[in-house]
Amino acid sequence: MQRLFDVFRNRAALPTVPDYDPEIRQIEDPERVIIPLDYPGRIHYLPTVKAGDTVRRGQVVGRSRLGNSTLASISGRVREIATTWTAQSVHSPAVVIENDGGEGIPAGEMFDGPVAPGDPRAALKRIRTAGVNAPWTLSGRDYGTGEITALPRLEAVIITGVQEEPTILTSQLLLEQQAEKVAEGLRRIRILLPDASIWLTVPAHLQSWAEDRFSEFADIAPVPRSYPGRIEREVVARLIGRQIPNRESYISRGVIVQDIENILAMVDALDGVSPFIQKCLTISGPTIDKAVTVRFALGSSLRHILASQGLKVSDFVRPVVGGPMKGIAQYSDLTPVTYNSGIHLIAQDLSPFDPIAPCIFCGRCTRVCPAKIQVHLLNRMVEFGQFNSTGKLHPEACHECGLCAHVCPAQRPIVQLLHFCNHEMTHGERYVWSAE
Ligand code: SF4
Ligand code: SF4
Repeated sequence: MQRLFDVFRNRAALPTVPDYDPEIRQIEDPERVIIPLDYPGRIHYLPTVKAGDTVRRGQVVGRSRLGNSTLASISGRVREIATTWTAQSVHSPAVVIENDGGEGIPAGEMFDGPVAPGDPRAALKRIRTAGVNAPWTLSGRDYGTGEITALPRLEAVIITGVQEEPTILTSQLLLEQQAEKVAEGLRRIRILLPDASIWLTVPAHLQSWAEDRFSEFADIAPVPRSYPGRIEREVVARLIGRQIPNRESYISRGVIVQDIENILAMVDALDGVSPFIQKCLTISGPTIDKAVTVRFALGSSLRHILASQGLKVSDFVRPVVGGPMKGIAQYSDLTPVTYNSGIHLIAQDLSPFDPIAPCIFCGRCTRVCPAKIQVHLLNRMVEFGQFNSTGKLHPEACHECGLCAHVCPAQRPIVQLLHFCNHEMTHGERYVWSAE
């Protein structure tokens, strides 16, 4: 029988990747892609194609009112504009394209040559039409209604060369393998935003390597391998010297956070080389000895991506899109994968499922919380519906990093409880029990 001490000790070990293949593997295009048109808190696109249309790889299939575009990642026939559950658990309209093996649009036809450095208006337009989510694209959340009269003033740009989740390697691999292009991206940002502070986060062991290559354009910020030092909100707060409330977007406070892949996509778009229609992600899991990183067409299914590496979902109890700390378990392997950087495959449930096991009030969740929340109190208040008592304990400070749930020996759904609490406090209408 396992002793309580062992349970505590084992639960504290964060998932990591023991070994990995440094080569990024290009996988073949699938027979079908599903391109969602809605992303949580971000851009909402309207379809620019209809069922029966033939589209070519790189063609715009959805456009937002701000001019942001989403593009066909394969050539083929639009089977339908359907609805789908995305990997972020959003029910979204989507463009379904059946692959006909046709050629994509050549870059020369798509783009009018490179954009001149220092022309922010042309750069913004190019980035938007190329489907890139880069510093100058505005979130739909901030500009949902009304006219757009000015771009927000940007004080700080933070480029993340280290992903928050310890099992996701895409940023680090791209940083190491495409250092010159990363430097070019930083140079472009420096020209376009001369007054902004620019930081590049790098794994701590690469600090001097990165300083040699990038310090001309950005301040280098080493990030440790372990939580909570790499939690994005914590890193941002450390760099800019203040905490941005979790309910507010970075851009509303003049801050932009982008990963390396977006910066590389921005360079390709500005140079007129290619639009953003492919993405990298790392496949990992406790029973996967060597994590692999693949590049895939946006909108490929989970099934297609895993099959390319000889894996199938039925060999695992749960596929999680994202990482083990903040990822979302998927109910179907047909879910389209788009702006996700990881798949984490859980092979075995460690304990029988119990929806809410009792809290033993050990306080472990509170001790690890980087936001210094009294999690042991809050999660019980929420469990018993005492929402009005939660305000003074500031549940809104939660990063949803998952550390508390990870160390909880009772395996309570703490993050879900806090998420529910925040939702109730923001949007909820209390359900009033009545004797009648
Ligand atoms: S998820 Fe848990 S540990 Fe992380 S910030 Fe929220 S309460 Fe704290
Ligand atoms: S929620 Fe879990 S970690 Fe927190 S006090 Fe209760 S049993 Fe301990």
